[in-house]
Amino acid sequence: MGFDLREILNFGTAYLEGKSLSPRLDAEILLSFVLSKDKIWIYSNFDFKLDDKWIKKYQEILNKRSQGMPISYIIGEKEFMGLDFKITDKVLVPRPETEELVEKLIYDSRKHEWKKFLDFGSGSGVIAISLAKFLPHAKVWVVDESKDALDITMENAKKLGVAERIYVMDKTKAEEFEIVVSNPPYLTKKEWEDSRDLHFEPYEALVGGKDGNDFYRKIFATYKPKRFYFEIAHPFRKSLKEIFDNSGMRYEIIKDISGRDRIAILW
Ligand code: GLN
Repeated sequence: MGFDLREILNFGTAYLEGKSLSPRLDAEILLSFVLSKDKIWIYSNFDFKLDDKWIKKYQEILNKRSQGMPISYIIGEKEFMGLDFKITDKVLVPRPETEELVEKLIYDSRKHEWKKFLDFGSGSGVIAISLAKFLPHAKVWVVDESKDALDITMENAKKLGVAERIYVMDKTKAEEFEIVVSNPPYLTKKEWEDSRDLHFEPYEALVGGKDGNDFYRKIFATYKPKRFYFEIAHPFRKSLKEIFDNSGMRYEIIKDISGRDRIAILW
């Protein structure tokens, strides 16, 4: 008895139909995860029969996915800038838009030879660690209100071999930075309430107070770097524009690859 991998993959795909935007891909990733085999192995062993124990395990995680749990939380990792990060439900799932922010900052940093960065709200550490990885002379300080998040940042820094250039910020010491970068929690409570698919992720990592701008205010009040690089909500809010205008700095808003307002640079 038992079913072969082709049948199981078809079953998984059908199970996620209408529940995920990419049912086939999700079914493949989750099957690879359950079997600890890569996709190529699965496709070259389509006739391989699985016993019930494995099928049951696969069904359990398909069920989590069908309820909307992000794939990264199920498999415990996410690729960002070509690097594999450990992810748990204590941190936001890194988004591809944030890679665009990081790419821009890496590009500008090479040009200007910036070396001292602060990543405010580091979460899983994707921004800080990518900077350290791609800029060999960079030193990156990190802050996060969540101790769990800082632990994950440092675990990823070790895993990716840059822990000696990532520093958890000692808040008792005054530090000056060339660059402050942040993808802060920036949704309004209302936006969060209206997006059920975000409800698996930590509320604190998504919502920036009533108008979504609490963290930008806090960052401006605390740091005076040469430049800020921010991820922002789309569309660029009037209330955030007011904060930027009042900062006395010049700024530029850059759209992401989907044409949405996404990056703010202030100098
Ligand atoms: N980009 C996320 C979303 O809109 C929000 C991330 C954040 O608040 N920093 O789903």
